[in-house]
Amino acid sequence: MKYFSTRNDSVKYTSAQAIAMGLAPDGGLFVPETIPAVTAEELAELCKQDYRGRAVNIMHRFLEDFTEAELREYVAHAYADNYDDAAIAPLRFTDDATAYLELWHGPTCAFKDMALQMLPYLLTASLKKTGEQRRVCILVATSGDTGKAALEGFKDVPGTKIFVFYPDGGVSRIQRLQMVTQEGENVGVCAVKGNFDDAQTGVKKIFGNAQFAAELSERGWFLSSANSINWGRLLPQIVYYFSAYCDYVNSGKIAMGDEINFCVPTGNFGNILAGWFAREMGLPVKRFLCASNANNVLTDFFNTGIYNKNRDFRMTISPSMDILVSSNLERLLYMLCGAEKTAGYMAQLSEEGRYDVGSETLERVRALFAAECCDDDKTKAEIADVWEKSGYLIDTHTAVAAASLAQYRAASGDNAPTVVVSTASPFKFAADVCSALGENDAADPLAALAARCALNIPRPLSGLDARAVRFDGVVEKQAMPETVNAFLK
Ligand SMILES: *Cc1c(COP(=O)(O)O)cnc(C)c1O
Repeated sequence: MKYFSTRNDSVKYTSAQAIAMGLAPDGGLFVPETIPAVTAEELAELCKQDYRGRAVNIMHRFLEDFTEAELREYVAHAYADNYDDAAIAPLRFTDDATAYLELWHGPTCAFKDMALQMLPYLLTASLKKTGEQRRVCILVATSGDTGKAALEGFKDVPGTKIFVFYPDGGVSRIQRLQMVTQEGENVGVCAVKGNFDDAQTGVKKIFGNAQFAAELSERGWFLSSANSINWGRLLPQIVYYFSAYCDYVNSGKIAMGDEINFCVPTGNFGNILAGWFAREMGLPVKRFLCASNANNVLTDFFNTGIYNKNRDFRMTISPSMDILVSSNLERLLYMLCGAEKTAGYMAQLSEEGRYDVGSETLERVRALFAAECCDDDKTKAEIADVWEKSGYLIDTHTAVAAASLAQYRAASGDNAPTVVVSTASPFKFAADVCSALGENDAADPLAALAARCALNIPRPLSGLDARAVRFDGVVEKQAMPETVNAFLK
């Protein structure tokens, strides 16, 4: 199976090329030319396998230039005792029609691990398969979760280095500590004076600097990105939609073939789009509920067909969803309207900050996607509500999804069995979760939450204060290229 750019489907690439390149040369995103089908019999077989078996089976269908044995080896490393739950992505029921898919049992306690523990294997193998001789340096601008997950994924991976920029004062205390105490010989972390946008723009400028690239290339290096536009990040995420369905069937609460809904807390549209691919492959999904926080660009899009990023950016207690341009929506648009229209919408987005897909496309989108949003107060109320009613603790991002689901059910009357995709450990956002339960200004929110809810602090988050700070650098944004240059000397 080959891959195309969302903006030009006349040039084909192998899967290894798509993963090695990350972004297509015309600025588009890579998509598979066909979507492999999973039959009912094959789905029944998947139900008998563990997470690793399901991962090999699903990913192999998209990776023609990888052998099954290769994938088995990667999966054995990516989903192993780096997870603190043997099920890797367990499903927890709060009632027969509502389950939470916990995607945060990996080393950074957020769902980015599901892909970023896998991506280094796919990427380094893809570089070998495409004959790349140079070593790769992964460059990341992060608002919190991606940076740490990428550091954990790439630490000490031979032939790679990774450097992460984060906005000075713009990430949570836990997120900062997680990054500045990062271990590994090939890692670097630095704060940038400014906000996330400054860091992101600085990184984009470095990627776009041809002279800098030529200099690095002479020294045997090239730069690549680990953000969610890479197909190698999207693909591992398709697996857990199948896995959740299988576990739902195995619980006896639904029968094989019954349709379920998925409710996904959404930022860049990567997670929910992976679910859409699973459905196209044949997974019995009725609808996806796209849940947003106060940055509700997507809610408006799914309700009007107009994507409009010309609005104020809001800082919320679900910061990993604070985003105004959801890059992966481009892949859905391509699948629905083709390359030509998609290229046009993307040009409009960069020139005017908005585009309108029209009523016909909107109707097709709405047959599959519903959308809801909620603000911080509702998010906190939902955390308290779920805890009181079910004794189940959720983080702020998952709570946006849970609150959106309640709104959707009330408005639509659709009470189909639903999997809420749970994207972070409640401990990762302990201060706000504590405050949602009525405990404001706890001196040590992690300890307070553990005591109050009789839960253990996940090992990756405990003792962070005691770990040695390895990276205390802060630079002006103009100094970012020089920082990378020095890192690769
Ligand atoms: C990244 C992230 C999201 C948003 O996922 P997208 O794929 O960007 O839609 C939601 N919750 C958490 C905790 C995240 O880290």
